[in-house]
Amino acid sequence: MRIDKFNQFINESTEEDMKGKKCETCGEGTYQDESYMDDLKGILHCTNCDEKIQRYKSNEPIVSDTPTNSQKTMKQFVLTTTSESSDHYIYFIEHPEKPTQEELQKFLVENGSDVEDGYSYENVDMCVEIKDFKTI
Ligand SMILES: [Zn+2]
Repeated sequence: MRIDKFNQFINESTEEDMKGKKCETCGEGTYQDESYMDDLKGILHCTNCDEKIQRYKSNEPIVSDTPTNSQKTMKQFVLTTTSESSDHYIYFIEHPEKPTQEELQKFLVENGSDVEDGYSYENVDMCVEIKDFKTI
């Protein structure tokens, strides 16, 4: 995280002066107060596309709509593998979404049953989400 972003983050209530900032609409011009009226009304115009904005943009509290993994409800998966010596293995794993092949490979290297010198000899057969447990 860059330090100015960090300052913005810890100081959420400060207002940001948009003057001279790059236009968010066209990405070409910068926001400037072009007239006395602009200054009075507290607005700025883009020098390129004339986009009008409020000079002081109050920083809204950062609300993340993607919660971190620990806050997310983890989904449970059954992972079955077959090793090169035709042994079958079953793992129960948790993941917020669905593990990718790369993540599964990494998992098998770290936690698998048939690993040698950092290489997994297991091939993923399937990885399915456990939606609900049935009573038998
Ligand atoms: Zn612009």
